[in-house]
Order: sequence, then C-alpha cells, then structure tokens
Amino acid sequence: MTRLVLVGPPGAGKGTQATALSEKLGIPHISTGDLFRKNIAEQTELGQQVKHILDSGGLVPDEITNQMLIARLELSDTADGFLLDGFPRNLGQAEVLATVLAESDQKLDAVVQLQVDEDVLVQRLLARGRSDDNEDVIRHRLHVYQSETAPLLDYYRDLLVTVDGVAEIDQVTDRILAALRDRT
Ligand code: ADP
Repeated sequence: MTRLVLVGPPGAGKGTQATALSEKLGIPHISTGDLFRKNIAEQTELGQQVKHILDSGGLVPDEITNQMLIARLELSDTADGFLLDGFPRNLGQAEVLATVLAESDQKLDAVVQLQVDEDVLVQRLLARGRSDDNEDVIRHRLHVYQSETAPLLDYYRDLLVTVDGVAEIDQVTDRILAALRDRT
C-alpha cells in the first residue's frame, strides 16, 4: 500500500492524518494546499497567481494544479510511493493522475476517505482559524467539496477505503492502517 490518496471534506483531518501516515509508512506526504501556501508565503509567481483563489475558497485552475503536482511527483522520493492529500479534487485531476501514473506503469493502491459530519467540520475549521477559515469561505469550500470532489468517491469505488474520522488523532490513524491492512 504505497501509492495512496486521502479524500475528505475540509476539516476532516487529512493533513494531520497524512503527516502521521507518511511517517509510519515511510512515504512522502504531498499536499497541494501546503504547496500553494508555501508559494504564497515565499511570494513566488505561482503564489501571487493563486493567493486570491485560496482566500476565496475556490479551486485553483486545473492547468496550474496539475502542472505543480506532476513536477512534485517527478522528484525521486516518490519512487517507492506517496500519499496525496488534497489532490485530486475533481474528476479532471483524477484522470490526469491516472494518465501520469500509467506512463510509468504505476497505479494507485488505495483511496482513503475520511468521513466526518458537516457540523463537526465547521466547528473544527472555525477553531483552526487559518486565513481561509472564516464562516463564509468555509461554507463555500464545503459546497465545492460536495459538487467537485465528492464525485471522486464513485470514480474510485474499487479502491475506496472509508474510515470514520471522528475520534482521537491516534485512533483515526490506527483505523486507517487497519483498514489498509484489511484490503491486502
Ligand atoms: P482544506 O482541505 O482544509 O480545504 P487544503 O490545504 O487541502 O485545505 O486546500 C486549501 C485550498 O488550496 C483549497 O481551498 C483550494 O483553493 C486550493 N487547492 C488545494 N488543492 C487543490 C487542488 N487539487 N485543486 C485546486 N485547488 C486546490
């Protein structure tokens, strides 16, 4: 289980779980949100292009996102696997990912869905207080998740591992690892 995707709405705990899983499984954690935020912090050209999009809670255009992700996957640390967090976020991105992996005879091993009720999500995000975590933007991001990202659950149905994301952090990590073990 080395080529993994983590899917879930904003606030589901993808970043937290991805960090723990990356360490336990010895594979790099690749977060498109983190990559965008790093570019924004460093005021790169890419960062300047996408800042207003992240602030509004919309999706960065696929050409920009796909190009950034493909460049990241080309680094040598992904040779034995990777954990994608926040990518793909729509069907077009999923198709690009499948194509890129197929070019090097690779495919995904599993897609982990973190499931959390919407009222818990909103509470968590308001408590986190990142710059895109105010109530209107949160509502918009949840809407974007439902309309753009949720269709991936059906697209990935044969690879899907669904885990209840409401528990202590360590317990959720254990649930994910157990669910991945059960698949093999
Ligand atoms: P969250 O899961 O809490 O929404 P992320 O860090 O994954 O946080 O994403 C933050 C923002 O970065 C998104 O709202 C979006 O603007 C942008 N983003 C991240 N990943 C993608 C992607 N795959 N495609 C388009 N935009 C993205």
